[in-house]
Amino acid sequence: MADRSGGRTNASLFERAERVIPGGVNSPVRAFRSVGGAPYFVARGSGPYVWDVEGRQYIDYVQSWGASIVGHPLVIEAVQRAASAGTTFGAPTEGEVRLAEEICARVEGCEMVRLVSSGTETTMSAIRLARGVTGRDRVVVFEGCYHGHSDGLLAGGGSGLATLGLPASAGVPRSAVADTVVVPYNVVPPLDDSVACVIVEPVAANMGLVPPVPGFLEGLRDGCSAAGALLIFDEVITGFRLASGGAAQVYGVQPDLWCFGKVIGGGLPLAAVVGRRDILELTVPGRAADGRSVYMSGTLNGNAIAAAAGLATLDVIAEENAPARLVEIGSALARGFEDCAYRLSVPLQMMGPPAFADPVFGDGEIYDYRSYAATNRAAAKQFGIELLKRDIFVHPASKIYISTAHNYHQVEVACNAAYEAMRAIRDRGLLE
Ligand code: PMP
Repeated sequence: MADRSGGRTNASLFERAERVIPGGVNSPVRAFRSVGGAPYFVARGSGPYVWDVEGRQYIDYVQSWGASIVGHPLVIEAVQRAASAGTTFGAPTEGEVRLAEEICARVEGCEMVRLVSSGTETTMSAIRLARGVTGRDRVVVFEGCYHGHSDGLLAGGGSGLATLGLPASAGVPRSAVADTVVVPYNVVPPLDDSVACVIVEPVAANMGLVPPVPGFLEGLRDGCSAAGALLIFDEVITGFRLASGGAAQVYGVQPDLWCFGKVIGGGLPLAAVVGRRDILELTVPGRAADGRSVYMSGTLNGNAIAAAAGLATLDVIAEENAPARLVEIGSALARGFEDCAYRLSVPLQMMGPPAFADPVFGDGEIYDYRSYAATNRAAAKQFGIELLKRDIFVHPASKIYISTAHNYHQVEVACNAAYEAMRAIRDRGLLE
């Protein structure tokens, strides 16, 4: 292939990036330091493929960490049309109303939508709403789930069964996580009248795609209702990917609030706090009985281009019956990887719905953070590195995202690469 890099290489760009951007990247997962490499710089994408600045083509199984569901360049016509009318106005636009209507139409139980700009903002805002509604401070989170990088949710667990949160990052004061209780996933914790809300990833996408055991989500629903606490589903990853109504539809459990992001922004910065009318309306100044509304705002909330991209994405999802298509292609990929593992006697578990998957090495049952962390993480990392060497764009030791642009051809190519990759990690002695 002709060299279209104009002399730019991944290495030279990374070197420049490291001089002006901490670690050379704008989000830590993009750096390959932890796995001993440098990131590739993407020049463009088309359908299921991306090309780096050196002109190398990869099958893209990152899909912007799930933000892209229809392949590249996503819904470009809608974006161009919206952009040609202006980018941002600081006044409401029709697109925001239409997007909110579409979300309400698709998600059963969803009555109102407040648009924000990132997953972090939606969970942060949902927690504030829950505290405002209940007048309580305590928030229950599950070890291994991730809800963005707001201070109160950057809490790690201690070694006990249920612990008060410990700051999971430098710069997070103890006071910020003093009311964050960290408990093991898949166990319904005791809840009392100090608890404002329980926030959970209904499928724990940030730790090996651990599914909820039967009774877990139902138990949380009952426990929250009994304690007068709110149940929040963080569906930033699962929303509109697992099913058009998200995990709530699949598992038949309705939370009081949902957090959506990624897919509903169509690849642009947009997310939403969604849920019951009586709760969402508390954000309207003067609406609460005691006059104390819950403050939420944002200069770019409901941005015209992002709303247009989100709307167009929801249209494509419906037209292409995306969740079913993702399951079809994802299942083929999972079966293919499992077959490679069987032939090589490699202990592989393909975790996931399988509209997205997490290849995990180890035989043990995986049901919470500790059982996930006990799997062979070194093998998972090296597996990703080996796939990358074979032009499969994945993030080492992380999830594989499918888009509607992927087909059986890419499955076949990926499975051939996976066979070689597994053989390589076995030969390196990483599976002993
Ligand atoms: N919730 C979940 C479940 C997530 O996976 C993420 C990010 N991957 C977030 C919230 C935060 O979203 P963002 O990165 O857009 O702030």
